[in-house]
Amino acid sequence: MRTQLTTYFARLFAGDLSAFGGPVTDEAMAGHIRAEQMSLVLGYSVGIMLANACNAIVLAIALWQSPDRISALIWATAVAGSAIAFGLQSHAARRITKPQFVSRRAMHRLVRNAFVLGAAWGIVPVAFFTDASTGGQLVITCLCSGMLAGGALAFATIPIAAIAFTAPIFVGIAVCLGRNGDLAFLLIAFLVVVYGSVLIRGVFVNSFSFARRVMRQIEAERTVRLDPLTHLPNRVAFNETLEAALKRLTLSGEEFAVLLLDLDRFKEVNDQFGHPAGDEFLVQVASRLRRCTRPAEHVARIGGDEFALVMANLARPEDALDIAERFVAAFTEPFRIEGRQIVGATSVGIVLAPRDGATPLDVMKNADAALYRAKRAGPGTIRFFEANDDRVSRDRKALQSDLEGAIARNELFLVFQPFLDLDGSRITGFEALLRWQHPERGLVPPSEFIPIAEETGLIHEIGEWVIRRACATVAKWPDDIRVAVNFSAAQFHNTGILQTIVQALSEAKVAPHRLEIEITESMLLSKYGSAEPVLNALLQLGVTVALDDFGTGFSSLTYLRKLPFSRIKIDQSFIRDMLVQPDCAAIVKSVIGLARDLNIGVVAEGVETADQLEYLRQFNCDEVQGYLISRPVSADRVPALLETKKLRATFAA
Ligand code: C2E
Ligand code: MG
Ligand code: MG
Repeated sequence: MRTQLTTYFARLFAGDLSAFGGPVTDEAMAGHIRAEQMSLVLGYSVGIMLANACNAIVLAIALWQSPDRISALIWATAVAGSAIAFGLQSHAARRITKPQFVSRRAMHRLVRNAFVLGAAWGIVPVAFFTDASTGGQLVITCLCSGMLAGGALAFATIPIAAIAFTAPIFVGIAVCLGRNGDLAFLLIAFLVVVYGSVLIRGVFVNSFSFARRVMRQIEAERTVRLDPLTHLPNRVAFNETLEAALKRLTLSGEEFAVLLLDLDRFKEVNDQFGHPAGDEFLVQVASRLRRCTRPAEHVARIGGDEFALVMANLARPEDALDIAERFVAAFTEPFRIEGRQIVGATSVGIVLAPRDGATPLDVMKNADAALYRAKRAGPGTIRFFEANDDRVSRDRKALQSDLEGAIARNELFLVFQPFLDLDGSRITGFEALLRWQHPERGLVPPSEFIPIAEETGLIHEIGEWVIRRACATVAKWPDDIRVAVNFSAAQFHNTGILQTIVQALSEAKVAPHRLEIEITESMLLSKYGSAEPVLNALLQLGVTVALDDFGTGFSSLTYLRKLPFSRIKIDQSFIRDMLVQPDCAAIVKSVIGLARDLNIGVVAEGVETADQLEYLRQFNCDEVQGYLISRPVSADRVPALLETKKLRATFAA
């Protein structure tokens, strides 16, 4: 009971409106409201103190003829002196920026000061009224009513301060009028009570609506700065934090770091499992990241799958590295989403200010460049910004925006590289390889633009175009010639791809077995789930699947046994070295043998010399591909290639 009373009074004297049945708030919000209340009072205070000083002087003059002249003079000097001193003090305080939070104790002080000032005026009617002349009494009545009204106005948003100020004056008036039994004075007393009640009631109404307005405003400001999905600060809040850090850097040289994070392959989670799963993934990521930072710092979500952190007051760059490592480690455990386990990862780019930039634009641009290098190095990588990153990232950005319109502008085209069957020495098909004729840069190799297409998600649109184009082209070739199309992981795990393939085949009127999809081993080990359903679906369609670049990935032989591949393509690096390195030759030989045992076709990639071809023939390799047979050629040169007698003669056994 006692503690309840104590907390009630603590709230009451802190100006907390819930003590009067007003809106209930948490302490953070209450502190904000106090700050707003206080700044209003401080805004008035210079005027109020001036008025107090003037009134005190007026009273001294009015009582000059009264017997209380000396005590009135002492009183007036004390009140006017303190009012002027206090006024000067609050004028100085006003120049300092408005605080965001005001403590209860500060509000207690304000209420106490209001009471002291009110009491000083409450003394006036008690001490000086009886002996004053009629004129003096009139002045005292006017001054007291004026003080009541002025106090209510000054403390219009803080009822307890208004009460603390006006109550002593009320009491003073009551005592003075009570002593004097005159009817006119009783009527005046009645009027004072009526006016006073109206004023106090006005203070309550005003302060409640003021508090609600402040709460709404603060709530709105919070919402503007919060990401609704993850409840992390958003880009607006992040930019403000960054700007504040830059301001401190210029004022006091305080160094800081910015960590930029990008989730690896988040787009694939979205594509494969749908947006609700993607959202859930982000929420879980956010809650893990939140636990990695120092207490006063908050990681922000500044884009779809981009997060960022400003690390203020950085003592050593290693501290930034330390937090970045924690971010990366937060992804060790897989995420459980809709009953599935999803393995995520993040890459982190770090910039140090002022070393790497001293404007928001420079800092973020360079953080982006460092992040890009981290991403290129693979999932879970951390990179500090290096001066060279800048140029690379500018180049890449330009390429990315050019790629967006490349299909529409007809800048993409396919070239075709034949597979030669060693048995019959005839061409059995072609691999479609993508080319980009850039208007200024000329021919851009796929190794440069395919990774960009994958990161931006453009690969889906481009991949569809490749399939349609390849099908339309193979339709013009003899029926026993196939076309092979390369796939990216993102495309492969997008279930919509089956629909596209079916459509492309039927539009071009091409039999499904003439289309082959090339995928790499890394796609099989994808963290987004098993490749098996997609592979089986392709097989059911009648489309064949080849395992590209075999030997460069995990080379798990179990895949070959378990998954329905129709062909293995031995990577060109083995073919290049097989004549000089015995272990390469051994690998080529055993892969060919293995394929034979499993009843799978085998293609050797990158055959450049006749010796290599001879060697492969000895091992009974099924097909070869490489510059020796033909470089990739444009579609219109394919018929000629199929006709060439010379080709048959050259490669005949
Ligand atoms: P890949 O599928 O392994 O394609 C074989 C690459 O080796 C091609 O390079 C080809 O031109 C090159 N090559 C062929 N024979 C020889 C040779 O005898 N010696 C040497 N040194 N190289 C040879 P390219 O066209 O630059 O393609 C590179 C990679 O880009 C491809 O590797 C493939 O993974 C990817 N790619 C190409 N087109 C597409 C596409 O339409 N979609 C996707 N997702 N990826 C593609
Ligand atoms: Mg290929
Ligand atoms: Mg290959």
